[in-house]
Amino acid sequence: MKISVIGAGTMGTGIAQIAATKGHEVCLYDSFSGAIENAKDKLEKILSRSVEKERICSEEKDEILNKINFSKKIEDVNGSSLIIEAIIENLKIKQNIFIDIEDIVDEKCIIASNTSSLSIASIAGVCKYPDRVIGVHFFNPAPIMPLVEIIPAVQTSIETLNTTKSIINNWGKVSVIAKDTPGFIVNRVARPFYGESLRIYDEGIADFATIDWALKEIGGFRMGPFELMDYIGNDI
Ligand code: NAD
Repeated sequence: MKISVIGAGTMGTGIAQIAATKGHEVCLYDSFSGAIENAKDKLEKILSRSVEKERICSEEKDEILNKINFSKKIEDVNGSSLIIEAIIENLKIKQNIFIDIEDIVDEKCIIASNTSSLSIASIAGVCKYPDRVIGVHFFNPAPIMPLVEIIPAVQTSIETLNTTKSIINNWGKVSVIAKDTPGFIVNRVARPFYGESLRIYDEGIADFATIDWALKEIGGFRMGPFELMDYIGNDI
């Protein structure tokens, strides 16, 4: 089964790595100059580190890389059964890429968005076949984080939902179905986590380091809110 990923940034590269590791033929496409080269470089480094740590052997590293077509031509997504879009978090730009993709693939191809919080129904709304559009929300770093939120829009067919769920589960991920609402489950919960921490700082109650320390040492979180905001990037 061929899988394509649109956008070779942080998330797209990680998702392509998962799909290739699971044996799929993968097309990783990006339209911006340098993005594809960066993605290939980054993935080579990540896989070399895995070889050094003896998590995989060098043959496996080569196999994974050979499965990925790092492409600057969107036509290369042709023949895919599932396409996962992971470009910039902007509704209009995402809608445009879905329109472009539909001109290339056949009507059975599922087209998913990795959006963190945009409306899947609004993306599906511009498509010829909205029933094949769905949200598939991975977390960063995608190859490591087990959870994937699956978000059917009102237009999404039950076949699209079932097939997507079965692919994601076969990749060893833990999937949860979430309603098509802003932030879905995790980011909805995460907003007050960041927001309250910023407010605590703003009111002069504690500094960044102390708030991070408290959440980790007392609250049992793996990362403090400011550490996490820095890691993800406030733009994202
Ligand atoms: P990123 O900036 O690292 O990568 C985005 C990539 O998309 C870039 O390489 C860019 O060149 C490419 N791109 C932009 N517009 C394009 C277009 N029109 N056609 C083709 N390629 C295009 O971003 P990211 O962090 O990987 O996020 C991608 C998506 O995943 C966003 O919707 C984001 O909300 C979501 N997401 C991000 C995270 C995270 O923690 N970074 C987690 C979950 C979901």
